[in-house]
Amino acid sequence: MSGTATLERPQQKSPQNSNHFDVLIVGAGISGIGSAYHLKDQCPDKSFVILEMKDTFGGTWETHKYPAVRSDSDLYTFGYRFKPWVGTPVASAQAILTYMKEVIEENDLGRHIRYGHRITRCAWNSKHNLWTIEATRKSDGANVTFTANFLWMCQGYYDHEHPYIPDWPGREKYKGQFIHAQLWDPKTNYAGKRILVIGSGATAATVIPAFCEKAAHVTMLQRSPTYFYCAENKNELADRLRQIGIDEPTIHRVVRAQIMFDQDAMTKRCLEEPDAVFEELKTLIRHFSGKPDFAFEPHFTPKYRPWQQRLAFCPEGDIFRCAAEGKLSVYTDELESFTEKGVRTASGDEIEADMIVATTGFNLLMMGGITFEVDGTPVDWHDTVTYRGMMFTGVPNMVWVMGYFRASWTLRVDMLGDFVCRLLTHMQKKGVRKIEVALRPEDREMKIGPWMEPDNFNPNYLMRAQHLMPKAGDKRDWQHTQDYWRERDELPNIDLNGPEFRYS
Ligand SMILES: Cc1cc2nc3c(=O)[nH]c(=O)nc-3n(C[C@H](O)[C@H](O)[C@H](O)COP(=O)(O)OP(=O)(O)OC[C@H]3O[C@@H](n4cnc5c(N)ncnc54)[C@H](O)[C@@H]3O)c2cc1C
Repeated sequence: MSGTATLERPQQKSPQNSNHFDVLIVGAGISGIGSAYHLKDQCPDKSFVILEMKDTFGGTWETHKYPAVRSDSDLYTFGYRFKPWVGTPVASAQAILTYMKEVIEENDLGRHIRYGHRITRCAWNSKHNLWTIEATRKSDGANVTFTANFLWMCQGYYDHEHPYIPDWPGREKYKGQFIHAQLWDPKTNYAGKRILVIGSGATAATVIPAFCEKAAHVTMLQRSPTYFYCAENKNELADRLRQIGIDEPTIHRVVRAQIMFDQDAMTKRCLEEPDAVFEELKTLIRHFSGKPDFAFEPHFTPKYRPWQQRLAFCPEGDIFRCAAEGKLSVYTDELESFTEKGVRTASGDEIEADMIVATTGFNLLMMGGITFEVDGTPVDWHDTVTYRGMMFTGVPNMVWVMGYFRASWTLRVDMLGDFVCRLLTHMQKKGVRKIEVALRPEDREMKIGPWMEPDNFNPNYLMRAQHLMPKAGDKRDWQHTQDYWRERDELPNIDLNGPEFRYS
């Protein structure tokens, strides 16, 4: 049997005229662009295309346009390992988009991207060892068909168009302006208004200080408190290395190592001594808010362990300064219903507002809402078991890039980039065209459970959608462990001839 080496190389001829590619990447967010870089760098003979439903790249950083939108991880680790980050550790969406634009231009990736193509269906055919990908072209509504040997799924994990808005009673009664942060229009005027923000996660922590600059008053209504980590938005090691003339690639490498080392220590401490960690977080809040007697009860004492959900970063403790200065009021209560003037809480208080901004998160969307079939049978993802959170039993020639939540997402983009390129090279050398993962004989008795054990990581969007997600086993090989520090050593050493890989 011939390997992938015999395939057409459309990008080297006329990329716009052929619809067959060795690899098809779904999505031009930070995962898709990073994956394309690795493919081009490590498998230069593979033809590939990126299909993106939007008119531009950026994914998450393009979708979200609310005031002050920024990362909540540092860009030294959220940036790719191959392109130094030279800005502040926590960066605006605009700075991240500029960084991605540079990656696209410096590596000539633009000619591989087809924007305005929404993929609707992917069907695998074992006779031809080929995916057929159907997409709707936005410019003319035409259905366009592609074929590819390998699918690299970089479509993210949530619905970019339909955010999560709970079904609150009486919403139609409210006479003010209601907006979900994910659908925020940058032209929205909020100056001088009384704003109610529903939710207290990373998005709330970002918009509230921005609102406080111009609004008459801001109120935050949360069901339960969140942990916040306050620090200055700078990296002293990076600044010092720059000052003494070290080159940026070296600074990037060293600072990434420093941050990952510190995060590893922090994650372990969160598990081993959560109370001590919380005391440290409180000390930082007291310092940055300028209030040594800052009151943590009842609004800033979470019920879960630090790190069971993302720890929201507050540069310079901005949200706490707003609270300390009286620009922000907080309610910790259930939202019972909307009223004409605002909302009523379960305790009977009415919070009046001219504008209500929901930061209630997103809806998880499996595989970008694409319908999958394997040899004519529809794929129900919940019937599959994941191999390391990237491949799935019964679904050949496909990898999904699902990043980390406790560490920067992109660390996994780089690592899976290496893995996929190693796998494609291995297949080519073996002269095979199909790879599928399957449980090994020793996995027969393995306990199969949900994608994520709630005790490990339990954000609401994941808990709402576990029934749609693939399943996981109780062995590390069959889980997305969210453990960067172990995967860093394990992924490069995966034996591609192991019994869990079936080639043909
Ligand atoms: C507001 C916000 C802030 C965040 N901050 C951080 C952070 O600081 N650090 C961190 O590590 N993580 C953060 N995350 C998680 C974040 O989503 C990831 O870090 C990362 O940006 C995801 O990149 P991605 O490319 O995998 O997916 P996305 O950014 O979701 O991009 C996926 C792309 O695929 C396209 N697509 C989807 N479906 C289809 C389809 N059917 N056909 C064609 N194209 C399709 C989409 O249009 C999109 O452009 C944040 C998430 C949000 C929502």
